[in-house]
Amino acid sequence: MLNFGAGPARLPLEVTRQLSKDIIDYLQTGLSVIELPHRGEAFAKILSEANALVKKLMNLSDDYEVLWMQGGGRMQFAILPMNFLHSGGTAAYIDSGHWASEAIRYARHYGNVVVPASSKDQQYRILPVIPREIPEEWAYLHITTNNTIYGTQFHDFPDCPVPLVADMSSDIFSRQIEFSRFDLIYAVAQKNLGIAGVTLVVVKKSMLQHAADNVPGILSYREMAAKNSLVNTPPVFAIYSCLLTLRWTDSIGLDNLDKRSRNKAALLYAFLDESRLFTCPVPFASRSQMNVCFQMDNEQATRNFLDYAAKAGIQGIGGHRSTGGFRVSLYNGITESDVVQLTDVMRKFELQYLKG
Ligand code: PMP
Repeated sequence: MLNFGAGPARLPLEVTRQLSKDIIDYLQTGLSVIELPHRGEAFAKILSEANALVKKLMNLSDDYEVLWMQGGGRMQFAILPMNFLHSGGTAAYIDSGHWASEAIRYARHYGNVVVPASSKDQQYRILPVIPREIPEEWAYLHITTNNTIYGTQFHDFPDCPVPLVADMSSDIFSRQIEFSRFDLIYAVAQKNLGIAGVTLVVVKKSMLQHAADNVPGILSYREMAAKNSLVNTPPVFAIYSCLLTLRWTDSIGLDNLDKRSRNKAALLYAFLDESRLFTCPVPFASRSQMNVCFQMDNEQATRNFLDYAAKAGIQGIGGHRSTGGFRVSLYNGITESDVVQLTDVMRKFELQYLKG
């Protein structure tokens, strides 16, 4: 079965196999990895290796803290302004899709929010243009690097005189970028990092100095950093799944994963651009290498193709409930041959459909 779902997503097979072994017996201790005490030595090793791998893959210095938090992406939408949008400040958000607009909605609970660029009027089918002039008084500028629902992805990032914050939930570690341009990065685990239940946060120590004081420990980046992510019982197994995926990511290398992402996306977009049945509404420059969205102009044919694909062992390709159509997610756990298998099935369906 091929799963092109948007997340929880397919992990590399090696990772899933190892997880299943470690659930029964972790390093021949006779203990399952899910029962490791979170303040014990074994978990301390897991955490420190995972933190070190994140910094290595991002090529970051000790100026950054690595945190593992709960509550998923939405919790970050709230925690970020709770910590950094205080004392009457203003934060700026680029409105590039559903998740970006949700982040904006959450932030408005805490303070002033400005939206210097939005592509809402274009149904988020293209990327908004980030302004060149960024006022120095903004508390931070928030961008969503990849728009999971609409299939758009930023390929350039602004030079920013204020802290640059990124939701990288759906494209982290799929390509090589200069992570040090960002002051705070967050990413849910369930796409390219591991299983659902934990969110990676990487934050510059200098930014933490500006965090609000009156935030409860579990919601405070500064407290989380001071306690090495152990303010409460962390999701031990979810973090372990991230460690295994990080080891896998490191063994392949970000440069190779970058190439793989380009190749996988190129295969699918090339097919779509030639197809007489399927069309991709996203213009070339805005296209995502992670979530490829496309459609047919016939609703019955759309349903028929979903059934046809399911019979061919292909799952998770229905578009988000707000957009309809199709969405194929090409996270790191998906191989090039998976994409070839998918395009073969699409081609066969198209031939049959056009023959009538
Ligand atoms: N940000 C992005 C870019 C996402 O794709 C998602 C969900 N897929 C979220 C945030 C929300 O994550 P969660 O469901 O963990 O709240």
